[in-house]
Amino acid sequence: MRIKASQQLVEDYQKLFVNRRAYTVQSFRPHPDTGRHYYFRPSKKGTDLPLMLTDETIRQHLEGEITVGLYAINPSTQRCKWVAIDADYKNAMEDLLKLQYQLVQDGVQPALEMSRRGGHLWIFFGTPLLAAECRVYIHDLALRLGLPVKGAGLVDGIEVFPKHDAIGPGDFGNAIRAPLGIHRGANRRFWFYGADYTLEAQIKYLNNFRRVTEEELRKFIAGKELPQSELPARPTRSVSAGRQNGNARSEFRILEHVGGVRKVGRNYVTRCPSCAESGHDRSGDNLAILIEDPRFYKCWAGCAKEMIRAALGCPVRIRHLA
Ligand SMILES: [Zn+2]
Repeated sequence: MRIKASQQLVEDYQKLFVNRRAYTVQSFRPHPDTGRHYYFRPSKKGTDLPLMLTDETIRQHLEGEITVGLYAINPSTQRCKWVAIDADYKNAMEDLLKLQYQLVQDGVQPALEMSRRGGHLWIFFGTPLLAAECRVYIHDLALRLGLPVKGAGLVDGIEVFPKHDAIGPGDFGNAIRAPLGIHRGANRRFWFYGADYTLEAQIKYLNNFRRVTEEELRKFIAGKELPQSELPARPTRSVSAGRQNGNARSEFRILEHVGGVRKVGRNYVTRCPSCAESGHDRSGDNLAILIEDPRFYKCWAGCAKEMIRAALGCPVRIRHLA
């Protein structure tokens, strides 16, 4: 049965989920070695020009022609419209329900989306909120509940989107499968619990969720420090120079921890320490470090900053004042 998405649905969907125009698409064919359907950034046919997300992209996603991945952070503001918590492991649903219960105690209404083995919890904001502050809130909750967070040396655990406090210019962060489309690997749609399994009913349901405000979020995280971060909310060159002089001892510098690097364009390139731990990245080029400002680095295989820092023995600290 073919599903049709009206223009109204497409617009409501954009309002709920789309925070920047860059996006990814899930491949139709499984990778021959791993059997997985990876996501890639689509570009205009025969060019390197990246495609930008439009109403038409969303319509195709909702109608099941393509499957889109969305980025949490808008790089011009370092803010997010939502937080998504992905739990996809044995007993994942138990952990999600604990998290959901705790969120509801705070007056936050999360929406629970089904997934292959667990689910995704979505929290929506009235206005886009700072990624760094969203992350403090969720990481603090997870800490209090004793939930495993993937990356901090753990293979299984919840994954929090946004995965970064801030992203550098030209960077994207991690994308999550956009809800209500067809998962290519499972070849089916995953719906939200709590509404009928039609696009209209689901969007109507999501539109009625209470939105968290900035004031509320700041209250939740009052007295809790941001996870120690190399990424300032609004990176500028002058700030970077000031920090390097004034704060030299406490600042993490990735170049002091990784082995040999080589220059490729604007970046230093080297083996990703987190990939290396699991025997990957033998060609030694997964980790890119921005030459101009080495506080910005990225693993092309998708290792989160926390994973890289943990692999280097310099884990990102989350100070917690209860
Ligand atoms: Zn890596």
